Amino acid sequence: MGIAGVCYAEKLFQNNKSFCVIDNKKTGSSKIAAGVFNPTVLKRYNMIWNGEQFHKNAITFLKKIENKYKIKIIFKHDILKIFSSISDQNNWIVASKRPLLKQFLDSKIYTKKVKGIKTEFGYGVVKKCGRISTLNMINGFKNKFKNNLLNEDFDFKKLSSHNQKIVYNNIVSENIVFCEGYDIINNPFFKKLPVTGSKGEFLIVKISNFSLNKIIKRSSIFIMPLENEHYWVGATYDNLDKKNKPTQLKKEWLIEKLESIITLPYKIIDHKASMRPTTIDRRPMIGFHPDYKNIYLLNGLGSRGILLAPTLSFWLYNYIYNGLPFPEEVDLNRFKEINI
Ligand SMILES: Cc1cc2nc3c(=O)[nH]c(=O)nc-3n(C[C@H](O)[C@H](O)[C@H](O)COP(=O)(O)OP(=O)(O)OC[C@H]3O[C@@H](n4cnc5c(N)ncnc54)[C@H](O)[C@@H]3O)c2cc1C
Repeated sequence: MGIAGVCYAEKLFQNNKSFCVIDNKKTGSSKIAAGVFNPTVLKRYNMIWNGEQFHKNAITFLKKIENKYKIKIIFKHDILKIFSSISDQNNWIVASKRPLLKQFLDSKIYTKKVKGIKTEFGYGVVKKCGRISTLNMINGFKNKFKNNLLNEDFDFKKLSSHNQKIVYNNIVSENIVFCEGYDIINNPFFKKLPVTGSKGEFLIVKISNFSLNKIIKRSSIFIMPLENEHYWVGATYDNLDKKNKPTQLKKEWLIEKLESIITLPYKIIDHKASMRPTTIDRRPMIGFHPDYKNIYLLNGLGSRGILLAPTLSFWLYNYIYNGLPFPEEVDLNRFKEINI
């Protein structure tokens, strides 16, 4: 189960709708994601599409489920964006004055040393960010809703539609919402949609006596504190390699990046890979199948799933149960020429 499934099922629960989650327990991208929530794009100094609303809704939603599951999900950390040049500093100052960005980017250029980090051009602080423990979120959901879970690989042969109801084995429901991440490529109803996938690899390293409590962003990677002196280091983006396995080549790339940022010794604990469910136009997709009006999709969360999933669930829910429209930018119908 991934974060799309958790958010949509939660939305159903919050509205007193009954539901059943069918999950094959495979490790999708949610379970290994860094879980960083940050609505800004630090490479280009702008906001993601609809970033302010996504951020606000995600925080409200995640706080609510954190209280409900009685498990820590939100870890607040500023992000230190380490500059690589004087022009990088200047771009930061300009960006930090823009209307949407200014609530997130602190306009000051900091030069105070950060133990273990190379900061020759100083750094800027991104506020209101942090990480979500996606594992705690998914496990919290599963504990709370044990009776709503069916642990099996979804078998499309068992699915049928009778009198406008969805039937799967002995389960009869009004609708079905597929939230399969990159595994959508095996879904006969939606596999033609352009979920291209972007493979991400990362390292877990141990760095003793580092005591970093901020997220570091430099040279296109994050170094993010976990528990017990462990740090998440990544990630890579690869649109060509579609295998879920980590590679030696990307490991070396990550090590090179890491060593260009930190000055302390480290030990590699783990190296993992997964596919981000990215789309051809980098927007998520929700909506129904053109031939089956009660078969729905919530997918394409790309590299910002944490921020997107709560609002998309809200939009999809409101569409299904209240007939309210959602923004056409996320409508899977934008790919209608593909003839799914
Ligand atoms: C290395 C890496 C780092 C990332 N870091 C971040 C980050 O810092 N912040 C952020 O916001 N996003 C991040 N992402 C992206 C994020 O992981 C995704 O946007 C998000 O997890 C997608 O969630 P999902 O629920 O759509 O898919 P998934 O997490 O892939 O979940 C889909 C689930 O569906 C289930 N499933 C699929 N098919 C079937 C079937 N036939 N039967 C039964 N069950 C099935 C599987 O169990 C699977 O777990 C990262 C991704 C990667 C790869």
